[in-house]
Amino acid sequence: MLQKYQHCLVSLIMAGGVVFCWLGYMYSTSLSPNEGPSKYDEELTWHPVVLSDRSQRKQAMLMEPVRTDVLTVTPWLAPIVWEGTFDPQVIDEAFRSYNLTIATTVFAVGKYTRFLHALLESAEKHFMVGLNVQYYVFTDLPSHVPINMTLGVGRRLKVVKVPKFDRWQEISLRRMELIQTAIEEYIHQRANYIFCLDVDMIFHGRVGPEALGKLVAAIHPWFYWVPRSQYPYERRTISKAYIPQDHGDFYYQANIFGGAVEDVHRLTKTCREHLEMDKSAGVEAVWQEESHLNWYLWKNKPTKLLSPEYVWDDLRGQGAKEIKLVRFSSVIKNKAEVRENP
Ligand code: UDP
Ligand code: MN
Repeated sequence: MLQKYQHCLVSLIMAGGVVFCWLGYMYSTSLSPNEGPSKYDEELTWHPVVLSDRSQRKQAMLMEPVRTDVLTVTPWLAPIVWEGTFDPQVIDEAFRSYNLTIATTVFAVGKYTRFLHALLESAEKHFMVGLNVQYYVFTDLPSHVPINMTLGVGRRLKVVKVPKFDRWQEISLRRMELIQTAIEEYIHQRANYIFCLDVDMIFHGRVGPEALGKLVAAIHPWFYWVPRSQYPYERRTISKAYIPQDHGDFYYQANIFGGAVEDVHRLTKTCREHLEMDKSAGVEAVWQEESHLNWYLWKNKPTKLLSPEYVWDDLRGQGAKEIKLVRFSSVIKNKAEVRENP
């Protein structure tokens, strides 16, 4: 009897070992940065749009171009999302049944914890409403995180303790490394998509599943009418973020970017490696991680672009006629007061 029991136990342990190795193998291949799009990606990012009869009848714009004043598609056929280019009801219905989870990273280090409450409160009203949202707040001051805020159904907040670096530039650029590690350690198991946000921001309008895609970036609110030659790309050849004149597509702002977890993992890993190479060469790109993000998106075109509605700047104020709705915007801050160094 005892022998039979031992035999069973050994078989169980062996079977467990095989499953464990297989899971390990699947994990390592699913995060391998050099592979092309995997089946995993496709399943996550392609959602057949099935509409109810009611929505089908209500769907207003089919043949009429609703926005003729702005660019709504890139030369590589990625949509640029502007108010009017989509029907929120159609989008919500198309995504509803997939039970998606969106990881959302926010860094609040040092005095920047003061921005958290307003950002989170506004995100609860406007950001991915109806989907599962898992906020990851990275901070050196966990006690400053407003953890007793009421979050909607399916929405949770996790605090991650991080070290504080001396310079604001270092705090800002280290996010790439910390996001990369967080994806590898836990986010990849828990989320379908990830968005990475600055903390000194507020949501004013809907940012919903219309913003989801494999690789998503937002066009900078100060550079969308500016000729490419004047973009503030890194122009020194010594930096890994170098983009030559007459190259590049758009100037993207790093205050919000995202996509499928695997794609954002590849992005953060590459940017982190390039930031480290720059550091060993004694150079810091002109706009830190934003310069590296722009290099990455020049070489790896985003599959969806968000118009500046999705990353406005309060300093620009209201009144730009092509901006019908400000959805997400940088607040005006006293840089000298909140930053660690000039
Ligand atoms: N950050 C932070 N503490 C700092 C400096 C920066 O937490 O002392 C984080 C924070 O998430 C902030 C982001 O890094 O939103 C980028 O910095 P900042 O907003 O100052 O850059 P800007 O948007 O003004 O270019
Ligand atoms: Mn900011």
